[in-house]
Amino acid sequence: MLEEYEKKRNFQLTAEPGAEIGKRQGPLRFVVQKHAARRLHYDLRLELDGVLLSWAVPKGPSLNIKDKRLAVQTEDHPLDYQFFEGVIPGGQYGAGSMIIWDGGTYSPDWNHVRNPGSKDEESQIRKALAEGKITFILRGEKLRGSWTLVRLNKSSKDWLLRKNSDEHASDSEDLAELTRSVVSGRTIEEVREGKSAAAPIVNPANVEGARHGRLPKTYSPMLTTLVPKPFNNTGWVYEPKMDGIRAIARIDGDRVQLLSRNGLDLSAQYPAVIADLSSGNTKLLLDGEIVALDEQGRPSFQLLQQRSGLSKREDIARADERIPVVYYVFDIMFADQTNLEGVILRTRKALLAQFVSVTENVRPVADFDDGILSFEVCVKNGLEGIVAKNLNSIYEPGKRSKSWCKVKGVHSAEFLICGYTKGTGARGETFGSLLLGYRAGSGDLLYAGVGTGFDRTTLQSLKNLMEARKRKTSPLVNPPRQKDVQWVRPQLVAEVKYAEITKSGMLRTPVFLRLRTDISPDQVEQPPALAG
Ligand code: MN
Repeated sequence: MLEEYEKKRNFQLTAEPGAEIGKRQGPLRFVVQKHAARRLHYDLRLELDGVLLSWAVPKGPSLNIKDKRLAVQTEDHPLDYQFFEGVIPGGQYGAGSMIIWDGGTYSPDWNHVRNPGSKDEESQIRKALAEGKITFILRGEKLRGSWTLVRLNKSSKDWLLRKNSDEHASDSEDLAELTRSVVSGRTIEEVREGKSAAAPIVNPANVEGARHGRLPKTYSPMLTTLVPKPFNNTGWVYEPKMDGIRAIARIDGDRVQLLSRNGLDLSAQYPAVIADLSSGNTKLLLDGEIVALDEQGRPSFQLLQQRSGLSKREDIARADERIPVVYYVFDIMFADQTNLEGVILRTRKALLAQFVSVTENVRPVADFDDGILSFEVCVKNGLEGIVAKNLNSIYEPGKRSKSWCKVKGVHSAEFLICGYTKGTGARGETFGSLLLGYRAGSGDLLYAGVGTGFDRTTLQSLKNLMEARKRKTSPLVNPPRQKDVQWVRPQLVAEVKYAEITKSGMLRTPVFLRLRTDISPDQVEQPPALAG
C-alpha cells in the first residue's frame, strides 16, 4: 500500500514520516494539508486500514453545494502523515511548504452510503472506494458535515469533491480566506519563512461562555473600582495604568471607529491608529487606552491634550507626526460572529493576542503577575499606577466591577464642579477657585473643598463652560459659608490631585488636574477614602 509513497521519497533528505502502516486508534481520522508545491493545492486524506487515502484538490474544498472540485487521487500516505507540517526540501518529491489546514475525525455518512447497516465503518469505506463514490461526514475545525467524492470513470484517478446539503453548507463563506494551520496557527508563508509555531489558534465561537451575536454599534466599557493599595492575589494579573483616554475600537471590516467612554466618536482625531486597526474582513470590539508618549516613552496626558482638541485634518496629520499616539489594547469583547463578554479574561487575553497584531500605533498592554512589585515599578517610572484584574472574571460592560481594581500612585479622583469664587486682581476677568462636590452613597451632593491650580488657557475655557451652567442656588446639600460664590449646575467633571481626604470628607490641598470630558457626571464615583 505504501510502496509508491516510499519509492518517491528519500528519507535521508525529507522529514516526512517513513512508509509504515499505522494502527487505528479510536474514530477514523482525516486531515487536509495545504501544500505549496509546484502548484498550490490541498491534500485531502482519509484514514483506511492503517494508511491515508489521498487526493490532491487543486482549488481546495468549497462549502457551496454547487461547486464540484477536481480531486486527483495520489499514492496512499502513512497514517503518521496526518501530523506532518513543515518544509519538504528542494529537489524532493512535493518540494515546498505544507501546513495542517484542517483535521479531525470522519465516518461514512450512513444516509448517503448504499447498504448502510454494516457497523464496520472501514469495510463501508473500502466498498465505497471500490465503487467510486464515497460519502462521509467530516468533524474538523473548518470542514464539517457531509461530503462526497465521486470517481469520474472506472480507470481514472480523477474524482470530484463536493459538499452535500446540510447546515454546514454555505454559498457565501470562502474557505480560501482561512489561511492558518489548525495545529500551529501559522500560514503556509510563515512555515516557509521558518516562523516557529505560535500558540494553537483558538476558534472564538468554541470557547466556553462565547455566544453568537452581532457587533454592537455603541458600547459602555467595564469600569474599575479604586482601591487604596496594591495586593497580590493568585489568579490575578496586573497591568500598568496608562494616563490617556479610554477608547473602544469598533472594527467592522475596513470600517474602524474609536469611541470614547461616553460614546463620542474619536476616529477623526487619531487617523494613524485607525489605519493600523483596519484589518480587512474581521469584526472586532476592543478595549484600550489612547496614550501620547513623551520623549522618555512615558504616557503624558498633557501632550495628549495638546492634540485632542484639534479638528482640521491638516492639524491632525501634523499632530500625528509631532505627538504620535499609541492605542494600548487590553481586552477583546467581540470577534467574528462571537460575543466574548461571558468568556473569562484568561481566554480573552489569548484571543486578543491572536486577533491583534503589534504595529507602530497599536500595542497590547503588558501584564505582570506580581501586583505589589509592578505597582512600585510603574509608579517609579512615572505611570499612574496599576489595574489588577481577576483572570477568571467575565467582561461586564458599563459596570464598575470589583474584578478590576485600580491602584493609583498619586491620590486623584474625579469631582463635580458645583460653583466658583469670584477672582481678584489679575483673575478679576475669570475666577478664583472651584467649589467641588461628590455624590454620596445616599445620592446627596456633598461639599469636598476648593480647588486651584489653573494655567491661563484653562482659566478662560473653564470660565466659559461654567458661565453656560450658572444657577442661582447651591446644588450642594451642605454648601460652605463663603461669599461671592457663583453656583453652577454640577455637570463638569474635574480630576483633582490631593494629599488626603479628612474624616469629614474634605480634601486637603486639592489641585485641579484637568477636566474629564470623557466621564459623564453620573459616572463620578465616591472618593476612595469615603467609599468604605
Ligand atoms: Mn500534495
